Amino acid sequence: MDQSLLHSHEVALRQGSWIKFICGASNEDLPSISDLCAVYAAAGVNCIDVAADYAVVAAAREGLDWVEANHGLRPWLMISVTDGKDIHFRKAFFDPKICPKECKRPCEKVCPTNAITKNSGVLNDLCYGCGRCIPVCPLKLINEKNNTLKIEDFGDLISRIKPDAVEIHTSPGRINEFENSLKSILKSKVTLRRIAVSCGLEIHGISKYKLSQELWSRHECLRRYKQKPIWQLDGRPMSSDIGISTAKAAISLLEKMHSIAPPGPLQLAGGTNSQTIHYLSPNNGLAGIAFGGIARKLIQPFLIEAKAKNKKLIEWPEGWDKALEVAKGLINPWLSNNY
Ligand code: SF4
Ligand code: SF4
Repeated sequence: MDQSLLHSHEVALRQGSWIKFICGASNEDLPSISDLCAVYAAAGVNCIDVAADYAVVAAAREGLDWVEANHGLRPWLMISVTDGKDIHFRKAFFDPKICPKECKRPCEKVCPTNAITKNSGVLNDLCYGCGRCIPVCPLKLINEKNNTLKIEDFGDLISRIKPDAVEIHTSPGRINEFENSLKSILKSKVTLRRIAVSCGLEIHGISKYKLSQELWSRHECLRRYKQKPIWQLDGRPMSSDIGISTAKAAISLLEKMHSIAPPGPLQLAGGTNSQTIHYLSPNNGLAGIAFGGIARKLIQPFLIEAKAKNKKLIEWPEGWDKALEVAKGLINPWLSNNY
């Protein structure tokens, strides 16, 4: 890997043109992960954020190696962990044997990744925990399960994976768990370019001052351990990232936190989409943006078509070119910091 390619991403953070692709903290669909990482790396994102799983990281690196060889680009590879229960780290499940035969299977219709197919329960690898299937079951048969690593296992995993950066999802009141997570991560002895801290307001029902206090306590902790942060403001988590209201929810969080957040780059996530850029006010203090559900949804049709051809997207030039054009349509407006 050409290390010089990785340095430019710090510049993007300073210039306010940082872009991250969120592959999904619970996404374990390996063929699609490789192609998704490839297409957004080639589109020019600075960072790819994937599940903390050895096989997932191997699939992501396969896509990233191909892009480095063919496009001369290499984003940071970030893995996401959580210091406690978090909806980004869940999977849905139900027992299909107890579903009535006459059920019209609304769960199957709403699932964006085809993780529920005819007669099946939830296909674990394809479920990324969006939660859309849970409320639509008329018999309330669908439950969620945690898909989290134990904090004490972070160090071992990170020493094997050697990511460029780690993100810790945290919640109000979990400063001790946060510090334990950080200590476990640092046991790996891997030099990390940044530790991203992801937290939001809406989901916890707390005030902006409380969130600020929580982030400042993480700031003190990161300083003690000589780590550099990225503050990921999680506007409307797992919102499917569609439409103006989710875009505005993410921006509203930035506007609330801009002047009271601790030092370090502020990056938006959770509800961000192609509309977000149009609602940003000047001097917003934004260092960057992350795209999750919307980015995956845009590329999904190409992945499905490639699969039908029994190929990977990178092996199908016509589909790759079209998918890359679509990815660039989302990314390009953010590559300059003139928003
Ligand atoms: S709708 Fe979402 S939570 Fe339910 S199975 Fe599909 S991906 Fe998983
Ligand atoms: S909607 Fe509920 S009852 Fe119907 S197939 Fe899905 S899980 Fe089973």
